[in-house]
Order: sequence, then C-alpha cells, then structure tokens
Amino acid sequence: MTFEELGLSDELLRALSDSGYTEPTPIQQQAIPHVLRGRDILGCAQTGTGKTASFTLPMIDVLAEGRAKARMPRSLILAPTRELAAQVAESFDKYGQNHKLSKALLIGGTSISEQEKKLNRGVDVLIATPGRLLDLFDRGRILLADVKILVIDESDRMLDMGFIPDIERLVKLLPPIKQTLMFSATMPKEIRKLAERFLINPKEVSV
Ligand code: AMP
Repeated sequence: MTFEELGLSDELLRALSDSGYTEPTPIQQQAIPHVLRGRDILGCAQTGTGKTASFTLPMIDVLAEGRAKARMPRSLILAPTRELAAQVAESFDKYGQNHKLSKALLIGGTSISEQEKKLNRGVDVLIATPGRLLDLFDRGRILLADVKILVIDESDRMLDMGFIPDIERLVKLLPPIKQTLMFSATMPKEIRKLAERFLINPKEVSV
C-alpha cells in the first residue's frame, strides 16, 4: 500500500517523500483513512510503530481548511510527558512543511508568556501536557470551545501517571461534537472504560 492510496493530499505526499518514507506502517494504513473521514479511533500501538504519524498526517489535511481565532485552538493533543509532547510537535513540523498550520507546545519548564503570545495569535494545533493546559485554562488564557479534534496519546501512561482526573475535566470543557482519537500501548480495563465514555462509534485499530 502507498501513502497516496490512503487519501492524503499532494502537499503531504511531497513532505513524505522528502522525509524518505516510502510506505505507510500498519497502524498508518489502518488509521489514516478513518481519521480523514472524521471517525473516532481507538488505537492500540506501541511507540516505534509509526503511531504518531498515524494521527499527525491526517490531522494536517483535516485542519488545512479554516483559520484559528485568538486563544481558541482548533485541535488539541494531550501527551503524558514533555518529551512525548515535543516529539509530536516535531512530527507536525516535519510533515506540515507545505501547510500553513500554526502550532503551540504547552509544557512545563518553558516560558508561559511565550506560550500565551502564540495562543493569542491563534493556533491550529495545540500540543500539551494536561497540567500545564489546565493551568492556562484556569487563568483564562485559553478557550476550548473551538476544538474539533482531540487526541489522547499514550493513554495507559496517562493512567499510570495519575492524569485521568485532569483528562476527564478537560474533556468536559471541550465541545461535545468533535472527533476524538485515543491511543494506548496496552488496553487495560480502565482505558476501555474511558474509551467507551470519550469515543463515539470508534474504529478500533491494533498492531
Ligand atoms: P512513533 O511510533 O510514532 O514513535 O514513530 C517511530 C519512528 O518511525 C519515528 O522516528 C518516525 O519518524 C518513523 N516513521 C514513522 N512513519 C514511518 C514510515 N511510514 N516509514 C518509516 N519510518 C516511519
């Protein structure tokens, strides 16, 4: 199978050939067409399988139309650690080189005022750890009413790190009608239960 057959745009196909990738990985083959169609996803995949690109690639195309308003991100990716959030941001930079998407990374240990400036200019893609995001939300610096796509990455690690109450709170702050993608390396009962509450008729993909 080729990236072209998955339905990605020419701009993305160019970025992919620049990065030297010739073939989508199994998780990319399974997830990308459904994400492009707007479907919710429950993905079981470990790091190293290409799971980051399985959501960043189609999100770049889905978000290509439209413009972000000040302080109102159009998509939100939640990651358990700063390192993982930074990797997701790099993936958007790498594949989004032919698109004009704006992006902000909200993680602890970086300057809040810089992050606020970016948010004020409007961001299409907000990548955050749950604590820093709630911190800015509680200070009234960010509005979540325009989020159309939510990604919860490494859900099982979120669980291990005690982030589920934060995520539950965040999900309640988001519009009820949106696309939600949940990824986890393992599928313990607690994650399945969360998925039942957060996802609507999800496509389950597993590698
Ligand atoms: P991930 O599972 O998202 O952590 O990705 C693991 C590594 O695979 C990253 O370094 C990616 O750059 C790389 N990668 C992602 N998709 C592909 C692909 N289709 N072909 C080759 N490498 C890829």
